[in-house]
Amino acid sequence: MTLPEKVDAVNKVFDELDSRIAAFQSHTTLHCQFGCGKCCFKPDIEASVLEFLPFALHLYQQQLAAQWLEQLEKKNDLLCLILNPTQAGAGLCSQYKHRGLICRLFGYSSRTNKYGRKELVTCTIIKSEQTNAYTLAEKEIDTGLDVPVMNQVYMQLHAIDFELAQRFYPINQAIRHAIETVLQYYAYRT
Ligand code: SF4
Repeated sequence: MTLPEKVDAVNKVFDELDSRIAAFQSHTTLHCQFGCGKCCFKPDIEASVLEFLPFALHLYQQQLAAQWLEQLEKKNDLLCLILNPTQAGAGLCSQYKHRGLICRLFGYSSRTNKYGRKELVTCTIIKSEQTNAYTLAEKEIDTGLDVPVMNQVYMQLHAIDFELAQRFYPINQAIRHAIETVLQYYAYRT
């Protein structure tokens, strides 16, 4: 698979996932507070290179790859470089369309516990401020409501490129490696 084909395949996984999450949100009414973005302020967010490959290709196509690489190399804290706390609007992600897999999954996906039961992975704000909807969603998941399972979605990325999907890095490092991967790919093709 060529790099653009991998990007298309990742975007297809993202699109399907986004549709499932939208259906889950609509059914359960669970939602993020307008303009919240607190989950993006965690300094320990980890991601794989593959989930940021679409963003890296987008930067390359916009001739912004070198500029972002330079900023990532200079950055000396762990907060995601894409986060823009001063941005006006619904969220704080300056590249929402190109956000990573973890950014899409968190809040509206599940993990399977040791008893084989799906548990919703969401934030404390949603749990405490939307308790009734959260409790009902957990019950409905038990009786078959569709919710993405994190591991299963990561396995879909593994099937696209195991090397780029298997290892997790602090988020800025993952973005950096994704940009380097794209630059390396095109260095031999232009
Ligand atoms: S890519 Fe966007 S959504 Fe993901 S952690 Fe960074 S700012 Fe948040």
